Amino acid sequence: MREILHIQAGQCGNQIGSKFWQVISEEHGVDAQGYYRGDDEQQLERINVYYNEASNGRYVPRAVLVDLEPGTMDAVRASTYGALFRPDNFVYGQSGAGNNWAKGHYTEGAELVDQVMDVVRKECEGCDCLQGFQVSHSLGGGTGSGMGTLLISKIREEYPDRMMCTYSVMPSPKVSDTVVEPYNATLSIHQLVENADEVFCIDNEALYDICVRTLKLSNPSYADLNKLVSGVMSGITCSLRFPGQLNSDLRKLAVNLIPFPRLHFFSVSLAPLTATASTAYRHVSIADLTQQMFDAKNQFAACDPRQGRYLTAAAYFRGATISTKDVDEQMSQVQSKNSAYFVEWIPHNIKSSVCGVPPKGQQLSCAFVGNTTAVQEIFKRVGEQFSAMFRRKAFLHWYTGEGMDPMEFTEAESNMNDLVSEYQQYEQAVAEEEDDDAEMDGVYAGAAGGGYAATEPDAAYA
Ligand code: GDP
Repeated sequence: MREILHIQAGQCGNQIGSKFWQVISEEHGVDAQGYYRGDDEQQLERINVYYNEASNGRYVPRAVLVDLEPGTMDAVRASTYGALFRPDNFVYGQSGAGNNWAKGHYTEGAELVDQVMDVVRKECEGCDCLQGFQVSHSLGGGTGSGMGTLLISKIREEYPDRMMCTYSVMPSPKVSDTVVEPYNATLSIHQLVENADEVFCIDNEALYDICVRTLKLSNPSYADLNKLVSGVMSGITCSLRFPGQLNSDLRKLAVNLIPFPRLHFFSVSLAPLTATASTAYRHVSIADLTQQMFDAKNQFAACDPRQGRYLTAAAYFRGATISTKDVDEQMSQVQSKNSAYFVEWIPHNIKSSVCGVPPKGQQLSCAFVGNTTAVQEIFKRVGEQFSAMFRRKAFLHWYTGEGMDPMEFTEAESNMNDLVSEYQQYEQAVAEEEDDDAEMDGVYAGAAGGGYAATEPDAAYA
C-alpha cells in the first residue's frame, strides 16, 4: 500500500484539513469514532492510503495537526469528527505567530518544528511504503505559511525521494483584512517553487466570488468557503483513494501534469456548483459537467483560463452510472472546439478518469486539475501588492525584528517574477509559431457554440 501522510498547519490549514477528513471519512464509510459502517468494497480497497488501522479495528487518519496556538485545535478536538484523530498527533504551541511569516519560519515555529518532526517520523516508520506528504495551509498568515514551509523544507531534507504536495490557500483582501498577507504569501511561494512537487492553488479571492456569484451567498463565512475547498480536495484525491487507473498515486499525477519542474502550481475546479435553491431545477449531464469545469466562473484560482493556455490537465468524473464513452466524447469535443487554449506541442495533454463512488449526497460530480499558464494571474496579483509595500519597506520591521534579512524579500520577489515570466514564455511558445493570426481568430470564433464561450463575459476576473 502506498501511504500518504497528511499535515495541517495553522488556523486555515486545520480548518480545511479537518473538513477534508470529515468528507472523506463519510465517503469511505468511516464514522466519527473511526469505525467502518459502509457497504461498498470500494470504500475499503485503498483506505490505507490515508488511514492507519488500529488493533481495535478503528480507522485512524494518518494526520499530524500543527499550530502555534491552541484555539483552532481545541475546536477541532471538540468537533464531531475530533475523536477520529490520534491525540498524540496534535502538536501546538502557545505563542501564536501573529500573521508574521518570520515567527512561523524562523523563531516560534522553529522552536516547535522538532516536536512535529518526531511525530512525522513516527508516522512514516509505521508505513509500508510511503508515497509522500500532503500539507494543507494558508499562505497569508504566519503559522501555516511560515512554519508550514519550514516543515516542508525539513521533510524534503529528510525524505528527498518522497512526493510533497500542498493545498495552499492564497490570500485575498476580499476575505481577510491583514495587510501583510502579500509578504507572507510571496515568501511562501518562494519556498513552494523549490520544495514542493505539486501545489493545488486554492484562492480565497475565487472562493469568495463563487460563493457570491454562483452560490448566491451574500456574506460567505469560512465554513462556506471550506465546503468548496473540501469538495475539491475530495475530488482531486479520489483517484488516490479509490480503485482506478489514472493518476493513482502522487508521482503518476506529477508525471502527467508537470512538463517543467518549476511549473507545478495547479488551478483546480469543481462541478456542479449550483445555488442550493436552484438544485432541484437542474439536471446535470456529463456535457454540463465538462462545460462547467472549464468555465472561468468555476475556477478556484482567480484567473481566467481563456487568458492563458493549458499545458496539461486532468478531469476526475465521479458517479455510479457514468459511461466512459460519454466522458471521452465530451472531453474530446471540448478540446477540439477550444484547441487554441491547449498547447499543441504536448499531444494528449488532457486526461480523464471515472470513479464509481460519487461524493456524498450527489449523483454526479467532477473535479478538474489544470496546469494553465493563466495561473500567473495569482502571482501577478500578489506580486503587485507585495511590491507596493516593499518599495517603501512598509511593515518590514516586523520581519527584521525576528532576525530576517531584507535580502530574502528581494529574492522571493524576483523568484516569483521569474515564475511569471516562465509561464509567459510557455504561453507564447505557441503563438509565436502560429504563422497567421487569422487562424487563431477562427478557432476562438469557432468556440462560440459551446465550451468556454458559454461563460458570460462578466465571469472573467480581468
Ligand atoms: P495562521 O494560523 O498563522 O496560519 O494564519 P491563518 O491560517 O489564519 O492565515 C490567514 C489567512 O488564511 C487569511 O488569508 C485568511 O483569509 C485565511 N483563512 C483563515 N482561515 C481560513 C479558513 O478556514 N478557510 C479559508 N479558505 N481561508 C482561511
